[in-house]
Amino acid sequence: TEVSHERLQMESRLRRALELGELELFYQPIVHTDSGNLCAVEALLRWNNPAMGMVMPDRFIPLAEETGLIIPIGEWVLQEACSAAMEWKDITGRDIGISVNVSPRQFRDPNFTNAVMRALDQSGLDAEQLELEITERLILDNSIETAEILRQLDKEGIRLSVDDFGTGFSALSYLKSYPFDTLKIDKSFVQDVMKEPEDASLVRAIINMAHSLGLRVIAEGVEDEPQTHFLKAEGCDFSQGYFYSRPLPAADFEAWLKTNERVQI
Ligand code: C2E
Ligand code: MG
Ligand code: MG
Repeated sequence: TEVSHERLQMESRLRRALELGELELFYQPIVHTDSGNLCAVEALLRWNNPAMGMVMPDRFIPLAEETGLIIPIGEWVLQEACSAAMEWKDITGRDIGISVNVSPRQFRDPNFTNAVMRALDQSGLDAEQLELEITERLILDNSIETAEILRQLDKEGIRLSVDDFGTGFSALSYLKSYPFDTLKIDKSFVQDVMKEPEDASLVRAIINMAHSLGLRVIAEGVEDEPQTHFLKAEGCDFSQGYFYSRPLPAADFEAWLKTNERVQI
């Protein structure tokens, strides 16, 4: 009962989080592995609750999915992320892509494609600058609707990536039937790339497989320099992780954009 009481309390707090302005996006750069130059940015959701402090997404996204609250929250994330990308374009004078995580539950909402298109229209962002990150879990649910929605988004020019690649136990055949552009190698493989030969082999194999399928690859969770040398040598297109920058609140990220020499290239 204690657990369910806590859950109920969290649920009622989450219900009000949007209207109370408690949600916030943090931003983390995605860079070209070769040069370290900025390519795109991933939006990562945070919940600032007066009673609970800063709540990380792994703690409240599952609840948001179960309760359906992920639908309005997800729409807010899309709008906020697309407008942020337009602001960065004003600041830097160049296009910077924005990656937004979407839950399987959002895909089951018949309104999802509309919500995405609305976020693009209202912000003025080009569809090509938006990438939606989808976990392998979504693909596992393998419904006809999922395939259809992915095709619609692809037709609009929106990029699609497989997040946490390698953790989902799914049949790889979806990679040829769905219109994905990018694979994000899960950070659990990247983390031990210099310590565990098996992880190095897996990362190498994923990069080669992705490239032979015409997909781009992003390594997540890059934390130190030796990892960047390995990824460079293996031809990994893009990298993301604490080595380059932690996820930052909007104001700090803007300051980073203005001062970092890896941006104006
Ligand atoms: P993800 O999309 O795989 O995001 C990457 C996670 O790795 C983020 O955790 C990020 O802060 C963390 N990270 C980045 N660089 C490093 C590194 O070098 N080392 C380590 N150890 N970790 C690193 P975060 O922000 O806690 O997000 C966790 C997950 O929550 C995300 O995983 C994503 O699946 C989900 N999520 C975040 N924002 C949203 C959202 O707006 N909507 C939905 N549906 N899910 C979201
Ligand atoms: Mg992600
Ligand atoms: Mg990931």
